[in-house]
Amino acid sequence: MKKIKKYDLITIGAGSGGIAASRRAASYGAKVLLIESNRIGGTCVLRGCIPKKLLMYASDMRSLFDEASAFGWTEVPSIFDVARWTQSKDSELSRLEKIYREMLEKSEVQLISGHAKLVDQNTVEVDGRQYQTERILIATGGSPSTTAIPGLEQAWTSDDVLQLGELPSSLLILGAGYIAVEFASILSGLGIQISMVYRGDLPLRGFDEDLRHNAIQNLEAHGVKLYPNSSMRSLERTVNGFSLNLTNSSTLHAQNVLNATGRSPNIWNLNLESVGLKTDEYGAISVDAYSHTNIENIWAIGDVTNRVNLTPVAIAEGRAFADTEFGNNPSQVNHTNVSSAVFCSPPLASIGLTESQAQKIGPTDIFTSQFRPMKKSFTKSEERTYMKLVVDRKSNRVLGAHMSGADAPEIIQSLAIAITAGATKQDFDKTMALHPTSAEEFVLMREPTRTYG
Ligand code: NDP
Repeated sequence: MKKIKKYDLITIGAGSGGIAASRRAASYGAKVLLIESNRIGGTCVLRGCIPKKLLMYASDMRSLFDEASAFGWTEVPSIFDVARWTQSKDSELSRLEKIYREMLEKSEVQLISGHAKLVDQNTVEVDGRQYQTERILIATGGSPSTTAIPGLEQAWTSDDVLQLGELPSSLLILGAGYIAVEFASILSGLGIQISMVYRGDLPLRGFDEDLRHNAIQNLEAHGVKLYPNSSMRSLERTVNGFSLNLTNSSTLHAQNVLNATGRSPNIWNLNLESVGLKTDEYGAISVDAYSHTNIENIWAIGDVTNRVNLTPVAIAEGRAFADTEFGNNPSQVNHTNVSSAVFCSPPLASIGLTESQAQKIGPTDIFTSQFRPMKKSFTKSEERTYMKLVVDRKSNRVLGAHMSGADAPEIIQSLAIAITAGATKQDFDKTMALHPTSAEEFVLMREPTRTYG
């Protein structure tokens, strides 16, 4: 077989992480080949964060119509046309994909389309052609896992929901993580009858408990039916839709089903065995703090390594790899203090330690604030904004900030700077409030609500 060209780096996967790593490596003069079997942009741009947030905007407009009429506007009868939304979304994603292609071209990263597989640790094959390289970076991301129960492969994934030509009348959502909660909230806002079925007693494992309780209240306020502590047995297609059989012998029915039971690393058909690349029990590629695999010249970043599965983290891992290997600047990504948000309605966002994590480490003071957002004051909405600061009593440092309420992701992103810089509660107290805002409550919390230790 013909071997072509020698590269300094071959990156497999043109998602956010792979693109960032390739461009950064090329900026140091590396000759880079980027291989992608799908469109350019990866999960976040094409099937995740971006289209999801565009659908969230559509859903949130419903409550805006209610608020508008409470604030004196004449009511406007309105119908959501998902096919029109899909059309607008598709043209926006094509625009973004074009920008990515132009950026790669400008960076002089060579791009080819096709499925890559390893031949040996210096050779990658795509559609029968082999490419030689000094280093390989695997950035292939993840895809929905369908192994939780028999029949699950028949359910929609979030990819399908973001491509709909028409909306179902009812939907069962399986799972209670990011995707389940976001889609339950967004799709109920678009008028679909949603039931959320999950095995735990609270959704959003890993988030602060108070936010998890808030999420339940807000989902129920949007008409979402919750089935906690449910053990699923199998999914069957019926004449009218689907039946979900639970292990307690009950059955739930809906027109369609969204599988949101987690994602698995994309390692299939990469031929990792050919080089003896190590993966963990979940199929994630095992790496060290420099994203280095057990093979001398192979690295992996992003969701395929199943560390912190968020776009900005994959980008940071990709750039740290390129800085280390091509920029003569050894860099590691700090995976602590990574802020994240759930784009439900209202959204929630967090950075740092939760209340229960902090109290296990040492004496902790918890400051909270809860209030009715001013924008809802003329409406019948019972929605509350909730904020929490987790403070280490010994050092006075703020270890965590958590919020559920309008603009929570925007507010937490700004607070993340202070918390990353090591701000103390005193620093928060010294900060002048910006009035009238919700965010000002974070600098006006005087007495702890609870103390530990
Ligand atoms: P998550 O890991 O967040 O949630 C998976 C859910 O499925 C959990 O409720 C989990 O339950 C449940 N589950 C897993 N296995 C089983 C099983 N065998 N039987 C029953 N229930 C099961 O995954 P998502 O699919 O929601 O999201 C995937 C990734 O995408 C996340 O890691 C996240 O990082 C990223 N993402 C980020 C977003 C954001 O930043 N806003 C938005 C969307 C996705 P349990 O908790 O009990 O384990």
